Amino acid sequence: MSSYKAKAFILRAYHLGEFDRILKMYSQNFGVLSGVAKGARRTKSRFGARVSLFNLVDLEMSRGRTLDIITQAEIMESFKNIPADFHKFVFCDLIAKIVLKTQTASSDPCQGLFKLIYVCFRAIDASVGQNGGDLKKIMCFFMARFLAVTGYSPLLDTCSKCNAELSRSYSGKSIPFSVSLGGILCPKCGPYAQKDTLLPVKGLQFIESLFCETIEHIRNQTADSYVLDQAFQFLEKCIIYHTDCRLSNHQYLKKIDL
Ligand SMILES: [Zn+2]
Repeated sequence: MSSYKAKAFILRAYHLGEFDRILKMYSQNFGVLSGVAKGARRTKSRFGARVSLFNLVDLEMSRGRTLDIITQAEIMESFKNIPADFHKFVFCDLIAKIVLKTQTASSDPCQGLFKLIYVCFRAIDASVGQNGGDLKKIMCFFMARFLAVTGYSPLLDTCSKCNAELSRSYSGKSIPFSVSLGGILCPKCGPYAQKDTLLPVKGLQFIESLFCETIEHIRNQTADSYVLDQAFQFLEKCIIYHTDCRLSNHQYLKKIDL
């Protein structure tokens, strides 16, 4: 096969030589893809703005010796509000980082992940409001569903050590959670097992809903900044543990006051 078609999100762009651009993408049928858009940095490039970051594009690619060449690109959907808004850009960039740090060209394509990127980019593009709370909810939704589509949903209703069903009435303020065992711990196992983290009881409902509700429902839920922060850190720890990749998104958001 010397040429092929692909539908993909552009997640990263690097300069190559004087006029070319290497694009890293996540595609529907091939997973992670890289390709060269020749002449994309010329002022009168035939690609124009079509190969801009976060666009969903329909591509024609031809196999190259080292890198595949993008011969044609048509926009399927462009999320116009993202490049113009720093916070929106940051959150899409975090999504791109998680995808490209955890998936490689040899990973199997994941239709669920492709759809998830679409749903989240669309929500980020449409988000209004200045405080970043809505964007953080979308980001938590992305991370939870990322764990779900990659097969690493945490156990939140039974003890991850002894399998005991857990009642909804927790007496303390927080619940012990073991990232390595993949779930919460019952009061019996909690004190003995190695605890990697503690989940606030008041945030548990929000975290649970991230795995089963729609993105619209999540965005309409009330979640204070403490709960959002705890959920974000918890989900990031799970992704780091399961994918063995280095992420410091939470620290980065702190640095830029989000
Ligand atoms: Zn137990």
